[in-house]
Amino acid sequence: MAAAAVISTRPPFPANATPELVQQHIEDTLQYLLQECRTNLRQCNEAFIEKAFRFCVQAHSLDLRASGEPYYTHPAEVAAILAREVRLDDVSIAAALLHDVVEDTEYTLKDIREEFGEDVAAIVDGVTKISDVFKSHEVRQAASYRKLLLSMANDVRVILVKFADRLHNMRTLQFLSEQKQKRMAQETLDIYAPFAHRFGLGTIKWELEDLSFKYINREAYDQLKNALSTKRGEREDYIANFAQPIESRLTEYGLKADISGRAKHLYSIYHKMIKRGKSLDDIYDLFAIRVILDTDNVNDCFVVYGIVSDIYTPVPERFKNYISVPKKNGYQSLHTTVIGPDGKKVEVQIRTRSMHEIAERGVAAHFKYKERTNGSYVEDKDLEEWAQWVRDIFENAGDEASEQVFESFKLNLFQEEIYVFTPKGDLRILPKGATPVDFAFDIHSKVGYHCIGAKVNGKIVPLNYTLQSGDQVDILTSKNQSPSKDWERFVTTHKAKAAIRKFLNEENRKRAAEGREIWERKVKKLDVRVNDDDLEKLAAAFKFTHKGDLFAALGAGTLDVDVVAKVAEERFPANPAAKAKAAQTPPLSDKEKENGSITIDKFTSKARTESSVTLNGSGGTILYSYARCCNPVPGDDIVGVVTIGSGVKIHRRACKNIQSMAETMQPRFVEVNWSSQSESDGKFLAAIRITGEDRTAMLNDITAAIASYNNTNIRGVNIDSFDSIFEGVVTVYVKNTEHLERLFIKLRKIKGVKSVERFSE
Ligand code: MN
Repeated sequence: MAAAAVISTRPPFPANATPELVQQHIEDTLQYLLQECRTNLRQCNEAFIEKAFRFCVQAHSLDLRASGEPYYTHPAEVAAILAREVRLDDVSIAAALLHDVVEDTEYTLKDIREEFGEDVAAIVDGVTKISDVFKSHEVRQAASYRKLLLSMANDVRVILVKFADRLHNMRTLQFLSEQKQKRMAQETLDIYAPFAHRFGLGTIKWELEDLSFKYINREAYDQLKNALSTKRGEREDYIANFAQPIESRLTEYGLKADISGRAKHLYSIYHKMIKRGKSLDDIYDLFAIRVILDTDNVNDCFVVYGIVSDIYTPVPERFKNYISVPKKNGYQSLHTTVIGPDGKKVEVQIRTRSMHEIAERGVAAHFKYKERTNGSYVEDKDLEEWAQWVRDIFENAGDEASEQVFESFKLNLFQEEIYVFTPKGDLRILPKGATPVDFAFDIHSKVGYHCIGAKVNGKIVPLNYTLQSGDQVDILTSKNQSPSKDWERFVTTHKAKAAIRKFLNEENRKRAAEGREIWERKVKKLDVRVNDDDLEKLAAAFKFTHKGDLFAALGAGTLDVDVVAKVAEERFPANPAAKAKAAQTPPLSDKEKENGSITIDKFTSKARTESSVTLNGSGGTILYSYARCCNPVPGDDIVGVVTIGSGVKIHRRACKNIQSMAETMQPRFVEVNWSSQSESDGKFLAAIRITGEDRTAMLNDITAAIASYNNTNIRGVNIDSFDSIFEGVVTVYVKNTEHLERLFIKLRKIKGVKSVERFSE
């Protein structure tokens, strides 16, 4: 009847166990597991398995299962299921024993790697990550979750250990709350059973489905189970009656075979009844028998088919030859339906013993034992072939109309794509190597444009962080943020690339328009004559390929208009006298270029009618700009440096560049002061460096603290985190040092913040 559930023969845990009885149970369990391994694995390192078992018992010594049994009983049984029903290798048995250690105990992956090697550690890591994802997310898009699961497992054994884990959890589901039972059963039906089917693990698939069915629809399950058991005797008689003439003919032909009534599992009967809207009696293939031949000769299957068709009339359209054309999961068999005694239809499946093995154990039956070289495990050709084979199954999946799963996707087992979650738990698919910026643009271009940082699984990461399958990504935005050129270097999606490019081009155009304005205003005051051709020459003189780029640089403030004007006066003078005058100006020294003195801040490059800064001993306005390296704000102790072409450059006296310039440039230093005008000037850029612990919501708290004081605008945020230390530089617009000081006080009050200081490059 119901899927031949393999009964666990695990030693039962004694009631009222004394320490001696517990110790005895541990030893009995180990012997039981080793026996399963000896019986089912071609080769196994018993010392290795014993070591893993003892590690597991010790690591979980304080844990109990919901059933009240000591925790080790679970991994031990998961390992036994793998040995008995999947029959892989001792590496997967050890990994099964250790699969909950990293998640539930104080031991780390590093401990497992040191004790049991890279293979075991990699499998345990995969299983742990999958558990994390499934624990924290409700499965809503089954197909995507199946892909997610595959993309997280780079070793197929990860999934096989997960099957065995799930099977044991389903077998012991009665100890959990009804809500948990339903959730886990649905997840099993949606995710694990289809996988088990794809992997050809027939027995596990049936059991997973029947167990899920039981917890999802208890009433229907019980009804069907009772109905089937009342029919059992009747059915067994009928099948014996049907098989008898076949058996005697096989003997005549000298063929050895097992003939059995095939156990149909409950869920598939139920599914058929619902799908076809029929009653139990109408589901004809309840009468189904299986002939398993003790032969390696495939032709014998056709001989048996001939015998069966000779005795009973076949229903022609019901013949299926899965021997010449195997199913995608490797299944091979002949299927035929004949009219048996009393005119009932009976489905007959004919196959050899080895075909049967594959039908029951699927891919696992293909898995040949890995050889050990010099005592270490090596990836051998068989494993490679097997992986290829699994890959083919998935890549070619989709031409079986009756399959509910894997309709049209490629296997992500080899990680071409990653599956990440939004904060709400929706799954997004991105190419491998995608970063938070790709994710942000995938959500919406507005999110992308204003993305200042990201939290992955609650931790702040840099914008160029490489996302992993299963990550939960939360994008932080600021309306003052905009795409920068370095983003282009690390984004991978076409969407993000195109959007950034578009933005930068637009930005460039805007800057060029601003730059042209600056230039035209300037050129009116000059005694020069410059036509379009001359402009191109001028651009070339500054190593630009095009005059548009020259204008863009002027607009961006990376090139000072006075510097360009000077060159223009030399090259294109309206009268020679001007040229002679220009020639007297000394050329720009390299040192000055290095010091950044010729670059001026975009925000201060505009013509000023009133001055925020006054030169000591001078009543009139001066041409000045603020140094970008230290971003002085009113209230700072400042000093001016006379530059060629851009007037006086204002630095903070504490600026490192000022200190390094002190020796050579001293003569050019001038004393300057803030004027009362500076207060009404409004916005000055200042950079703040903050360090602290990298905790959830840290960046949110920082940005909120700044924005909530006097509507302070944040221009940009640059963050990094390592070893749970958060480090960030926030640039803000402030009125003066007092404004800045207030922000410092607010920032220092944030939980976990260690230092707040003025930042200069
Ligand atoms: Mn487990």
